[in-house]
Amino acid sequence: MQTKRSYIDGVHPEAELLKEGAAWLQAGELVAFPTETVYGLGANALNDSACTKIFQAKGRPQDNPLIVHVCNRPMANMLVSKWTPEAELCVQHFWPGPLTLVMSKTAEVSEVVTAGLANVAIRMPSHPVALRLIEETGLPIAAPSANLSGRPSPTSGSHVWRDMKGKIPLILDAGACLVGLESTILDVSGGVPTILRPGGISREQLEELLGEVRVDNPSGIQAPKAPGMKYRHYAPQGEMILMMGTPERIILRMGHEIQKGHARLKKVGVLCSLESAPFLHNRFPDLLFVLGSKDRLEEVASNLFEGLRLCDERGMDLILAEGVEEGGLGTAIMNRLQKAAGKRIRYS
Ligand code: AMP
Ligand code: MG
Repeated sequence: MQTKRSYIDGVHPEAELLKEGAAWLQAGELVAFPTETVYGLGANALNDSACTKIFQAKGRPQDNPLIVHVCNRPMANMLVSKWTPEAELCVQHFWPGPLTLVMSKTAEVSEVVTAGLANVAIRMPSHPVALRLIEETGLPIAAPSANLSGRPSPTSGSHVWRDMKGKIPLILDAGACLVGLESTILDVSGGVPTILRPGGISREQLEELLGEVRVDNPSGIQAPKAPGMKYRHYAPQGEMILMMGTPERIILRMGHEIQKGHARLKKVGVLCSLESAPFLHNRFPDLLFVLGSKDRLEEVASNLFEGLRLCDERGMDLILAEGVEEGGLGTAIMNRLQKAAGKRIRYS
């Protein structure tokens, strides 16, 4: 299939490009589009064969449900059978934005979308291209991240191009995504609201609004309630080690690991904070990628997937990543870093 990549204005999207995207979606085809979190791979959520194409294009396991994107409340009402008071509060405070709500589904939502679950995950994105595209299509849009399954989520049109070229008819490219991490997934179907995946909206922000908020499976021992969380996501091709500890110790340890890697003829990439970078560049890693300042974790979040992908592109065999402090956005960043590193975490 020929893939067209159209550059679209991220603030005032061109009407004719939105129409073209909507026409593909209405015809049951896939369109990749930017959201404020990461790029989505969209299909008509009410059309099973269109949604099935998402799983094929990504190589996504069938048991991993899709988040449905809406542009207004009536569209969400069509999909949700019960709105709890917590869900209502979240909608008022955080929609449109990077918060996905898991609620009881109506019969309109097919099992292909929810992978057989009784609940559906819904989000209203704030990116003008995403919102206007859904509006123009007039349909709820099922959209997971527009990467090949298991690869880091795409935070730019170039990332999508690399993963989806030849598999879908259209990519709407509006450049880099603002948040750069996927949405927070919050189960508000009943009982104590529970975070199924940390993301752009923090636990602290949610607790301020809702009171007690639980986190699903923090130790990673039981089966997670968001089926996708059991997969090793966000993984670069090289071996990755996540380094934890005081900055001084991490720097020292990274220096050793770089030397050891070089002795084994490995190409070693480093992902680190702005603060640590000056102490690491003279250890001569093959790639030094500055994620951002420790004092501006939004910066780290928005650069993380770009860093992981760059390590792959430059053929790094070993990737050393500096951890950040948990709490707020730090929790979501650490969740992605831990998944990318698999079980390889070093405390020093
Ligand atoms: P992605 O869109 O690629 O970021 O992945 C979507 C995430 O949402 C996956 O981890 C899914 O398992 C999760 N998800 C989607 N729908 C549901 C649902 N109905 N219940 C729980 N988790 C869901
Ligand atoms: Mg994904």
